[in-house]
Amino acid sequence: MRKKFIGANWKMNLLYDEAKKLFAELSKPSLSASDAEIVIFPSSIYLSEFARLKGLPLGAQDLYFDDSGAFTGAIAARQLKSISCDFVLIGHSERRITFSETDEVVNLKVKRAVRTDLNVVFCCGESLAVREADKHLEYIENQLINGFKDLDETELKNCIIAYEPIWAIGTGLNASNSEIEEMHGFIRSSIAKRFSTSLSQSIRIIYGGSCNQDNASEIFSLKDVDGGLIGGASLEFESFEKIIKSL
Ligand code: PEP
Repeated sequence: MRKKFIGANWKMNLLYDEAKKLFAELSKPSLSASDAEIVIFPSSIYLSEFARLKGLPLGAQDLYFDDSGAFTGAIAARQLKSISCDFVLIGHSERRITFSETDEVVNLKVKRAVRTDLNVVFCCGESLAVREADKHLEYIENQLINGFKDLDETELKNCIIAYEPIWAIGTGLNASNSEIEEMHGFIRSSIAKRFSTSLSQSIRIIYGGSCNQDNASEIFSLKDVDGGLIGGASLEFESFEKIIKSL
């Protein structure tokens, strides 16, 4: 039985006081005792203080693949572990596009993260042009092959895959139920083919892209959907609480 997972990707939003208030509200026992694993991904400048508050588990929105050294502005996997930040998003489409992250860089980051014992939320997703050309399955398969290159089954056991069609992120557009089920089933079979059936059955595959309080319950009930990565709707207590409760 796979435990449901809900991640709140706050991106570059919320000032310090706002973020702190929201984190405290979400960390109340009524929500943190949910059956799902709920992880907050705030701006990294808030991570160490939030970690000391001992609320919900925390994740970083990015890391760098080297261990230490002259990399101005970068954050290492070991530094995240040292403040009890146990999760990290890797390969989000905003990093791939706005920050020109290639599959090769994504793969280096995944390797560093899993080998530092971080739980990785590996994001993949196709553009509208790719979907309209009916190339979405092979596109995602390539992102998985390249992103997980040189990793073995054991190293992926703490990895979660987030399928996030780029055209659905922050746009108010959702993939349809059948599009989601097709892709999640495809990802699961692709993991079985490249790694093992047992990993394909245990790995969590979550959906992201304009999930909100109105559509979450339906999306989370779809076959092969183990939860969601939530952007905009995680920035307000009421909407995120409803999403969590919809599980
Ligand atoms: C995201 O960026 O991971 C995301 C799912 O954003 P939104 O929910 O705002 O579409």
